[in-house]
Amino acid sequence: MDERLIISISGMRGIVGENLTASIAADYGRAFGTFLKNSKSMSVCIGRDSRPSGRKLQSAVIEGLCDTGINVIDLGIVTTPGVGVMVNHLQCAGGVVITASHNPIQYNGIKLLLGNGAAAPSEPAKQIKRYFLEKQFTFAVPANRGKVTFNDQTDTVHINRVLAIVNKNAIAAKKFKVVLDSVNGAGGRVGKKLLTELGCQVVALNNEQTGLFAHTPEPTSENLTGLCKVVKAEKAQVGFAQDPDADRLAIVNENGTYIGEEYTLALAAKYVFSQKSGRAAANLSTSRMLDDIVEAAGGQVIRTAVGEANVVAAMLEHNCIIGGEGNGGVIDLRVVPIRNSLVGIALVLQLMAETGKTISRLVSEIGGYYMSKDKFSADELQAQQILDSAKKVFADAKLDTTDGCRIDFDDGWLHIRASNTEPVMRIIVEAKDQPAAQKYIDAVLNIRKEIMCCRPPTADKSCTPYKTGPGDK
Ligand code: MG
Repeated sequence: MDERLIISISGMRGIVGENLTASIAADYGRAFGTFLKNSKSMSVCIGRDSRPSGRKLQSAVIEGLCDTGINVIDLGIVTTPGVGVMVNHLQCAGGVVITASHNPIQYNGIKLLLGNGAAAPSEPAKQIKRYFLEKQFTFAVPANRGKVTFNDQTDTVHINRVLAIVNKNAIAAKKFKVVLDSVNGAGGRVGKKLLTELGCQVVALNNEQTGLFAHTPEPTSENLTGLCKVVKAEKAQVGFAQDPDADRLAIVNENGTYIGEEYTLALAAKYVFSQKSGRAAANLSTSRMLDDIVEAAGGQVIRTAVGEANVVAAMLEHNCIIGGEGNGGVIDLRVVPIRNSLVGIALVLQLMAETGKTISRLVSEIGGYYMSKDKFSADELQAQQILDSAKKVFADAKLDTTDGCRIDFDDGWLHIRASNTEPVMRIIVEAKDQPAAQKYIDAVLNIRKEIMCCRPPTADKSCTPYKTGPGDK
């Protein structure tokens, strides 16, 4: 487990009490407040996921923000997209979310949102980081110190925005039985309320906002066996799983089978593109299923570097009607420019209602690919050598070097990139079937072998052997 304090474009993440302390959180608040000092609004709203460590960190960030003259609106325990919604609704200069997303309970983090409700893009993020590292803070005089107020309207405002993008009556008429697993994170309360508004019969699992995660919190297949069993036992039409800050959504079909997070965006896009055509955005590691759906509707997919801020920037630039990532992150700009499990839930239920089809039928109609995701240790130099070599080996294929190297073939693609947060390379391969995927995996293995044989890793000696995963499909 990586135990460094990570300060990346998406904020700060560390282990509470070890490398992420109240004093660090207060300084991060001061850095953000200093960054916002010339904003039209001098208010920031702040929310947290349900981790027990969140309250202390939140208090520290609030202190830091108030030191710089920023007024803080405390939203309590809310989802990450919920904070984004309220930044926009209350016309704040920015937002702060205390969350470590899907990471284990000992972690926590601080995520910063700008005035449009989206995560800070690269340049502002770098400036805030510089203020933090150099302790370059602008303090307000005592009379102008920020004030703290409370607001408990996030669920209502958020749900109303989500209801505005679907036909509530059409969904309610179906009286769907839905199981929602919120892992005792921030999404349970608002998720249950939304489903109730949509006329669903809700079986709420792990719906206490205690932050004591009922299972490993990442919404992947191995962590959702409990949800699968309950969907089957309850004879529900669908099961939904949120991560602790409820920006990601995974789906279990009516047979109690986990369908893989790549299908969340695919199903949401299927509904949106059944209504109108336009552009969609996704990162380079997201399944080709999206291209199939969008192209069949006469639309276009904009591919971006990995990172939510990159997808959102492309969506805003190209006026995309849907966007997201293959990790179950669906973004609809009409609600908030952040991945949003509530948007995913609403759009998937709308698709089920409009078509009258089950999740398993919808999935089989979309079809699918064999996908394998993995990573191995590589320092900066090795990563660059592997990328350079891949570009030469696959020179005849369609190359995209926006973020590492994405190589598209007729029957699949592979994406190789260095991680932003740890000395590893990530590889994602997708092809029509396992043997086709293996062909590309073997090609990458050969490149890696050549580079590693020439110079063993220096940054991280504990090299993880590359092995193919079972795939998401
Ligand atoms: Mg998350």
